[in-house]
Amino acid sequence: MNAAPPGTANQQGRWLRFHERDLPIEADRPAAGITVGVLALQGAFHEHGVAMHRLGADAIVEVKTPAHLAQVDCLLMPGGESTTMSKLLVSQGLHEPLAARLAGGMPTFGTCAGMILLATTILDGLPDQRSFGAIDLTVRRNGYGRQVDSFEADLTVTGLAEPFTTVFIRAPLVESAGPAVEVLSEHDGHPVLCRQGKVLAAAFHPEMTSDLRIHRWFVEHLIG
Ligand code: GLN
Repeated sequence: MNAAPPGTANQQGRWLRFHERDLPIEADRPAAGITVGVLALQGAFHEHGVAMHRLGADAIVEVKTPAHLAQVDCLLMPGGESTTMSKLLVSQGLHEPLAARLAGGMPTFGTCAGMILLATTILDGLPDQRSFGAIDLTVRRNGYGRQVDSFEADLTVTGLAEPFTTVFIRAPLVESAGPAVEVLSEHDGHPVLCRQGKVLAAAFHPEMTSDLRIHRWFVEHLIG
């Protein structure tokens, strides 16, 4: 755990500077005391840091190197471009250390491209694209169509009293989920929010809205 306040520098990682500090922090601060990692090689990682900050995390580390990864208690893997992230994970020397942390049960939440990276099997990926096999899903990249086919949806999510309004952007389509996977939400008969052990994976982007309920679920159910 790291007691440094958000917005200050530590030796190895860079704490996020929150432009959104005026967004309210949840009164009960469920993420207090947790050093949160956000995989920051590419993509929409900043928003995940904001969400965790609003849940009361004391420290957010942008993870770009193995030294950064070693500091964190959990990891958020953002949306973006999974093929690019896969290449950067290898070139930064992060692939093996991250595989080891995942195997060791680090709580991890992947959204969209992050879900692809966590899955067992990628369809329509690049030939050299790697994934971690941390959640037993077969996902088809861009399975909902291209950027213009992006859409909003109101999802019914296990454990949430009200629907969760979110957006799908060139999202992966989950074609199958193994027996160890708990499906927490579906859209048109396909899983879109899945959990296996300490890994949570969403085909959509919960970080793009100010609704913190899915990040809160991750903190409350998978961390600690
Ligand atoms: N289509 C992207 C990929 O294959 C994912 C899109 C996203 O993360 N919004 O990685």
